[in-house]
Amino acid sequence: LIDVHAHLGHKDVFSTEFLDGIRRSVCAALPPADRTLAVEQTLRRIVDARMRDASGDGLVRAMDDAGVEQAVLLIIDFFHGQEGGEERLALIHTMHGALVRRHKGRLRAFAGVDPRRGDAGVAFLRRALTEHGCRGLKLYPPCGFELDDARLWPLFALCREHGVPVLTHTGPSLPTMAVEERFPGSLAAAAKAFPEVDFILAHALLGAFNTHLELARALPNVHLEISGFQTEGFGGSHLAARLGACFDTIPRQVMYGSDWPLFNFQISPKRWLEHLARLREGTRVDDERWEFFAQRNAARVLR
Ligand SMILES: [Zn+2]
Repeated sequence: LIDVHAHLGHKDVFSTEFLDGIRRSVCAALPPADRTLAVEQTLRRIVDARMRDASGDGLVRAMDDAGVEQAVLLIIDFFHGQEGGEERLALIHTMHGALVRRHKGRLRAFAGVDPRRGDAGVAFLRRALTEHGCRGLKLYPPCGFELDDARLWPLFALCREHGVPVLTHTGPSLPTMAVEERFPGSLAAAAKAFPEVDFILAHALLGAFNTHLELARALPNVHLEISGFQTEGFGGSHLAARLGACFDTIPRQVMYGSDWPLFNFQISPKRWLEHLARLREGTRVDDERWEFFAQRNAARVLR
């Protein structure tokens, strides 16, 4: 099993506002009667405790527990336009390079670069791919850019040169972040301009799922990743139907992702994967399609 969407559970790799936003959104998802100060303080302790995994050992333990062989750590560039931001981003990449070496064969990392960094960002990505051992690019448009930003083109060209994929966030983010206006046209333009580059849409089975499915059907280099469904809990009904639609129409372009540790405060990856296995029984997906979903599609895209 390969998890194409994880993050290092450490406070230094996220912005303070983002961590606060996570606490607030977990709290907002609770029934009003449960949103007490005591509950909020407990959540703060849980989130803080989950954000101390500088070694990646906590993630690898959770992977062992859930039967996940390999996970991709995605770096997000939250720091464009901040004083000392590039230095901080460089430190985060160095940290990830060390983690990938420490957990050889278990973890890999995608660089995070905001296209508004321009030429400096291109140089940054080149170093991330050649010196820090990153094997892909993670984009987070809610930081304030669109996927057809011309400044992304040289970054995509570098990905093509290195034979590595691009994974982009889709859908809403925390309320404090920007909303994309040109998606899905922006993504389609990028995927058409760079047919040799694989584009993975994160959280693709949530939100505008039908739009994502259409994109993947039209463009063979567009892939859908399923994380985020944990927010529906075990009782959600959309996941089985949407997974079924993917298995029917794009069985070679759908893959597993957990978004560790962000969606796993209430539901562990182990319990989530057990839930997926139960759903699988309901959809009567054959072993071959399941294997492509769980491993082979990701392995092909990650090379
Ligand atoms: Zn994520």
